[in-house]
Amino acid sequence: MNENFDCVVIGAGPAGLSATLNLARARHRTLNVDTGRPRNAATLVSHGFITRDGISPRELRQLAVAELTAYPEAQIRERSAVAAVRRRADGAFDVVTAGRGGTPDEVVTTPVVVVATGLREELPAIPSLSAFYGMSIFSCAACDGYAFNGQPLALIGETDDLAVRALLISRWTRDLVVCTNGVAVIGEAEEALLSEMAIVVDRRPIDDLEGEKGAVSAIRFMHGGVRPITGGFIRPRWHHTVDFLSGIEVDVSADGLLVTDRDGRTSVRGLYAAGDAAAPGPQQLIVAAGQGARVAAVITHDGLGVVTSH
Ligand SMILES: Cc1cc2nc3c(=O)[nH]c(=O)nc-3n(C[C@H](O)[C@H](O)[C@H](O)COP(=O)(O)OP(=O)(O)OC[C@H]3O[C@@H](n4cnc5c(N)ncnc54)[C@H](O)[C@@H]3O)c2cc1C
Repeated sequence: MNENFDCVVIGAGPAGLSATLNLARARHRTLNVDTGRPRNAATLVSHGFITRDGISPRELRQLAVAELTAYPEAQIRERSAVAAVRRRADGAFDVVTAGRGGTPDEVVTTPVVVVATGLREELPAIPSLSAFYGMSIFSCAACDGYAFNGQPLALIGETDDLAVRALLISRWTRDLVVCTNGVAVIGEAEEALLSEMAIVVDRRPIDDLEGEKGAVSAIRFMHGGVRPITGGFIRPRWHHTVDFLSGIEVDVSADGLLVTDRDGRTSVRGLYAAGDAAAPGPQQLIVAAGQGARVAAVITHDGLGVVTSH
């Protein structure tokens, strides 16, 4: 027989761990399942989380997991992947976790699933980029811009929102070059606007980045030429991580995010989402944690069968 839980939370980033903690505190027997590959795995330091500014992502996670051990209502299965979520005839869900090393798949049954699986990032195809990503090249200006105040920076990307991102990064430096890597994504009007701010647009294809031990020192262009920088930002493309929902007809945005109401309810009854997997807007640790806490409160209230406003 399948094991039963009141709630299953998929993902143990800040969104999923905060949802799990708050569900357990509301006495929901909750299982958290996590593969252990958070979005910020590339970086050693994270910023902007009150009381924890500058903490390593690993330590932040360990602190949150340790807190859960105080609650018999919470269980966490680490290094375990949810392979499928299936709707049952009785309206509950079967959550299938993939077996490892020859062990069979396991199925648990629950009326409530919280998806907190974050995003998968696809970086621009520059050979050494991953050696610098999370060390001196980042994607979130709000998270990492402060450390590079006034320094010569680059914004590298191939998406059509590059000019807007450049304006944002100009809060931290006016010594900024926007590299389109040979892909035309900045129109003439946008280039004129950027040039008023002394932001340079460089449309040359990039050969690679130069630097040592994670510290970038220059961009090398394909047909010659090098531009010194001390840091930078990229604009990744995002992919959702909810293939396990393929058997369920749930609304998904063009970006692949789960569409929710402001309280984290998806279009499917009993299925909720929190954190980067759901929310457009600021993608930060404390925002994801806040959304996890919020969705836990919503689940408790929904279970009472009363309509409340949060
Ligand atoms: C390089 C970098 C630096 C950053 N720095 C900062 C910073 O300094 N400050 C800040 O506030 N934000 C920072 N961010 C953003 C921050 O990492 C995200 O906003 C935050 O991690 C989102 O939390 P989440 O819980 O939604 O998702 P995540 O933290 O990505 O967690 C999702 C979890 O779900 C798991 N998962 C995925 N699929 C499955 C599955 N099928 N089954 C089971 N588990 C699954 C993953 O393994 C992962 O553990 C940074 C991001 C990057 C890329």
